Amino acid sequence: MLGQLGRAYDQAMPMPLTPRRNHRATRFRASRFAAKATLLAMASLGTALYAPVTAAEPAMTPTEPPFHGTIFIAPDIYLDTDPSAFDTLTYAGQAEREMFDRRLDRAATINAHLFDATFTDGLSLEVRVNPEFARDRAESVARRYLVALGQLPTELRRNLRTFTLHDGDQLFGGGGRDVLVHTVQGERYAEDGILTETLFHETVHATIDEHCKDDPRWLAAQEADPTYISTYARDHPAREDLAESLLLCIAMSQRPERLPDGMAKVLSEAIPHRLRFFDEQLGWNIDPTAPPMPDTPPESRESGTSTPTSSP
Ligand SMILES: [Zn+2]
Repeated sequence: MLGQLGRAYDQAMPMPLTPRRNHRATRFRASRFAAKATLLAMASLGTALYAPVTAAEPAMTPTEPPFHGTIFIAPDIYLDTDPSAFDTLTYAGQAEREMFDRRLDRAATINAHLFDATFTDGLSLEVRVNPEFARDRAESVARRYLVALGQLPTELRRNLRTFTLHDGDQLFGGGGRDVLVHTVQGERYAEDGILTETLFHETVHATIDEHCKDDPRWLAAQEADPTYISTYARDHPAREDLAESLLLCIAMSQRPERLPDGMAKVLSEAIPHRLRFFDEQLGWNIDPTAPPMPDTPPESRESGTSTPTSSP
């Protein structure tokens, strides 16, 4: 436990520098506009980077990542109205837990409020809430974030063991089968419509990175693709590329109508081998409440592991 907590948490990249507004609706509209503007700018750039093949002038191979960071660009992948597999939350009292706290930039022993959370897909985890929240408030905060967490694919959450909640304006984190949330930042993500998308990114760090980042097939896909999906992935290829790429790739496969126009072309030209890797190795259903994917091997659903490499 201490060993897991001693390692640095991977994290979502900081939010872009945009003026903060107090009005929720204004912030939301501004965020959506910014996301569309980002993609339009990208598409404009793509006109030069991804020129169609002609006899006179061969297509240029994209070499620059099309995005800065992927959690900001497609806030409609998950909507508040989408189903969640979150089911029950049971208070289990207070007990000491080692919990990473970004405000301290280290793990600390905290007499946390503990809850047992269950999901309709049979999964469960321990929720640890900093006692800076009173007991009732701790429960309401936990429920709020577990609804979003429960929107994530079953296979992504399968190896998640704990979910950690603190107050504070700090970045989220994921690692050691734990997802770390600071609620001031969380409310900002929620207002911008990217809370579940960000939890997706962090849960990849918590459950998938350790199994997948050294997989020769993933490394081969990284090598074969023309570029990275984002500058954040390019600048931290071992740490961030999986988390930066997977959300857009699974959305492209199963919820393409939720993605901004032009995304299919961008993904297929920038990271085609990564797209194929995820399609072939994962076979997840983006909706945890939907029936199992027909082409998912039954044994991978019964084995209790989400190790992507266990799938053919
Ligand atoms: Zn990250």
